[in-house]
Amino acid sequence: MTKQEKEVLKIFLELVKIDSESGNEKKVADFIIDFLKEINIKAKRDSYGNVIAKIRGRGESLILIAHMDIVAPGKGIKPKVVKGVVKSDGRTVLGADDKAGIASILFAIKNFNNSRSVELVFTVEEEIGCKGAENLDYRMTESKQAVVIDSTAPVGYITVTSPFIFSFSGEILGKGGHARTPEEGVNAINIFAEFLNKFKPGRINENAVSNIGAVVGGNSSNVICDNVKFKGEIRAFDKKVLERERKRLKFILSKATRKNQARFKLKTERLVRGYNYKKSDNLIRFVAGGIKKAGFEVNYQKRMGGTDANVFCEKGIRALSIGHGRRNVHSIRESIAVSDLLGTAKVIGKLCRGVDLV
Ligand SMILES: [Zn+2]
Repeated sequence: MTKQEKEVLKIFLELVKIDSESGNEKKVADFIIDFLKEINIKAKRDSYGNVIAKIRGRGESLILIAHMDIVAPGKGIKPKVVKGVVKSDGRTVLGADDKAGIASILFAIKNFNNSRSVELVFTVEEEIGCKGAENLDYRMTESKQAVVIDSTAPVGYITVTSPFIFSFSGEILGKGGHARTPEEGVNAINIFAEFLNKFKPGRINENAVSNIGAVVGGNSSNVICDNVKFKGEIRAFDKKVLERERKRLKFILSKATRKNQARFKLKTERLVRGYNYKKSDNLIRFVAGGIKKAGFEVNYQKRMGGTDANVFCEKGIRALSIGHGRRNVHSIRESIAVSDLLGTAKVIGKLCRGVDLV
């Protein structure tokens, strides 16, 4: 292992040993603030708990983003390094999502002489709906472009297309009664089944998916169920397709309930904006240039997942996410190679130094 690999690994291992499931990021924030203070960079916290730092330099300013929270099971992580690959001990996730992103950023800022004006943003609560990015104090930043280090893909991959996501909660209101006289009640479970059969959640096509992920209803085998609650989502690369599917959902729900003298409620839980960049886009060309200069091959990909980049786009900052080598995220098999921690840091170093942004 090279000296640089050892150093970036050390930062990463220290980070993953700090517990930080969503909502408990404070100690990671303290670590980052202290780390930056050591190298004379002042970082601040906004009122929501996100960490923001500015490094003054030349050229168009760029934001680098990673999130501080991790998914469960993520308490008491005991990382081990086997043949240059970091894993957990098999009881927890590793937390490379997204502490590998943080480690690579911190290492790059410390070691690769940066000349560009750079802002660093470390968010809280990404894993529970990008809440940190949603509530970030954007008055504390000034860049118009951002790179998020948070795609589950090899180093060199740029997520150029990310979906629009509509998450919803619904309710079917029937009429209760005794199971011996079904004529007197309206069973919400039956109506839900009818709805599900028509809506058919799952793959819509290559560019869109839907899901019903939670259902609650009923209490007893001899009671006609009068209420079913459910949660789901629709994802589509194209906003028009999302709108079409959203209308279809409402139409089917409305038809199934009306026909059976029941009622329904449908509430939007969240609406995430997607993005779609052309390869010729300035930001894509800039990021691709950095990747090439760091010695990696550039790959462009569509991903069905959202990241903080979607929220930044919604706030008017051109953002995208890049891969950094992590594997099997959100599982106890999660891992990352030490060479990828350094490789990502090299890419970041080139972005902080390289060709101009616009
Ligand atoms: Zn993540």
